[in-house]
Amino acid sequence: GSNAEKFEFQAEVSRLMTIIINSLYNNKDIFLRELISNASDALDKIRFLSLTDKEVLGEGDDTKLEIQIKLDKKNKVISIRDRGIGMTKEDLIKNLGTIAKSGTSAFVEKMQTGGDLNLIGQFGVGFYSVYLIADYVEVISKHNDDKQYVLYLWESNADRAFTISEDTYNEPLGRGTEIRLHLKKEAGEYLEESKLKELVKKYSEFINFPIYLWASKEVDVEVPVEDDDSTNDEVEDEDEDEDKQSTYGEEKEDEDEEKPRTKTIKETIYEWECLNDVKAIWLRSPKKVTEEEYTKFYSSLAKNFDEEKPMAWSHFNAEGDVEFKAVLFIPSKAPTDLYENYHTANRSNLKLYVRRVFISDEFKELLPKYLMFLMGLVDSDTLPLNVSREMLQQHDGLKTIKKKLIRKALDMIRKLAEQDPDDNDKNEVEESKKNDEKRGQYAKFWNEFGKSVKLGIVQDATNRNRLAKLLRFETTKSGSKLTSLDQYISRMKSGQKDIFYITGSNKQQLEKSPFLERLRKKNYEVIFFKEPVDEYVMQYLMEYEGKKFQNVSKEGLKLAQEFDDKEIKDSFKELTKWWKETLASENVDDVTISNRLADTPCVVVTSKYGWSANMEMIMQSQTL
Ligand code: ADP
Ligand code: MG
Repeated sequence: GSNAEKFEFQAEVSRLMTIIINSLYNNKDIFLRELISNASDALDKIRFLSLTDKEVLGEGDDTKLEIQIKLDKKNKVISIRDRGIGMTKEDLIKNLGTIAKSGTSAFVEKMQTGGDLNLIGQFGVGFYSVYLIADYVEVISKHNDDKQYVLYLWESNADRAFTISEDTYNEPLGRGTEIRLHLKKEAGEYLEESKLKELVKKYSEFINFPIYLWASKEVDVEVPVEDDDSTNDEVEDEDEDEDKQSTYGEEKEDEDEEKPRTKTIKETIYEWECLNDVKAIWLRSPKKVTEEEYTKFYSSLAKNFDEEKPMAWSHFNAEGDVEFKAVLFIPSKAPTDLYENYHTANRSNLKLYVRRVFISDEFKELLPKYLMFLMGLVDSDTLPLNVSREMLQQHDGLKTIKKKLIRKALDMIRKLAEQDPDDNDKNEVEESKKNDEKRGQYAKFWNEFGKSVKLGIVQDATNRNRLAKLLRFETTKSGSKLTSLDQYISRMKSGQKDIFYITGSNKQQLEKSPFLERLRKKNYEVIFFKEPVDEYVMQYLMEYEGKKFQNVSKEGLKLAQEFDDKEIKDSFKELTKWWKETLASENVDDVTISNRLADTPCVVVTSKYGWSANMEMIMQSQTL
């Protein structure tokens, strides 16, 4: 329009759009799920507001919380309409012109060298996928807060800039957003209803609002039979007709005499056809949900559509003071930035619903930080609906939910290990559970999320023992296979009281440590802890199943069947005394005769309560 204001896209967005519009990427289908997902988010927002203020839903069509898709074959336009929260002029400029999410720049960079566009939704730029199939896009929106009757029109042909104008030529739309995609020449297939139905089925099955398509339908219509002599439409020759029919068979005579002379023809009509089944998967009985359905549900939550199965899931119904249903997934992979800014990160992959109404996916109160890698959903019937988010955050019920979620999550991880033949000694897995598909699954979990288990040991005193059971590590005897504390204990030598471990930064170096000499000779097994976080873990994990942990590089190492040889100590007293005095200035606490070494003449040992040498190094480099 004439009142159009022109804006430049942020450079990053502009780059992304150029990549997308020129893309030969073969999966152009993804645009639809991105638009539907945005419409659904917008509907969630207005529905949430309506919990405390019914008025916001407005009246008439505005009250319909649904998504509508229309195809205009003649003009080659697809439009997608929602009556969600809408966007103000400022929103349009900000949301559809700049990149807000961190990590997105890295995504754009990757896209230039052939990254996977399929992941676009995870990076907060899903909208721009419209340029895979369209070369000109209009977004018309009216925000809920805009009380004057003004619509804004955002337009761009992906050429560095967009314009915004007050919308004048469109009929009144009411609240919400309509997106019009003017298709590229080669994108004609998206004007086929069957194609769109297929895409909704494939990618948007778990959207919690009805998705309607303005779809054609063949119907049978009765139309009057036209006589050859069409000048006379009246029914005066009915008798003649009766006569004709009666010649074909006597039974006809019993029929209604006033049978109208009509015929059935096919006619095409248009009506709204609902494409999804809105029944939420988590409300169904877990027994009746198939593996494929869980996988698809996971994909939609993860915005990850490469059809990778989640590692595991747990779907359950909690009863008691606080009732809720939940589905938890262990993702197939850890996001690359999972442990970046771990302490300050506010992420949550868990959606909170109250009585089917989406409340938030930013409730940090539902899971402890170390379990933030889980994805899923909680729907509670007990939590109050008509209170503010802040009040809900304070609600005592959340604590109960959190406790149960942690339990279920740890159970799920434990089972992953129990069902994995590779994680168990040969005869530990029941015959019925031996399953090649589960082979190696725990090692895979450990590789992706092991650090989370360790952080849990540090942070969660209540579940420390449960978490310790999940620990895996290499030892002086395990080769490259991972082993557990339970397995270590089962192999302990008779008379061995403590669990031995050594910390450092790499295995080759640790293998050569003089601290291991004597333990090796005597056939003791020693755990290698190689990650910086292990030092913290060992400060919190004092014992396991009644056994203490002993760092073999620290004071206090006692092997079984050994005694303090007082005689030997006495005979070296002069030497150790001299040595201690000589080294006093180097901050040595003591010099003693010990039986920890075999070939090396002497070692420096850390005191029982001091930091290990490895920890000193970590503290200096301040990494976790
Ligand atoms: P994301 O959905 O991950 O935030 P998108 O690129 O898909 O990233 O969308 C960018 C933003 O544009 C959204 O966060 C939202 O604020 C806004 N937006 C997009 N579509 C709609 C819509 N249909 N209704 C309201 N706001 C929308
Ligand atoms: Mg989106």
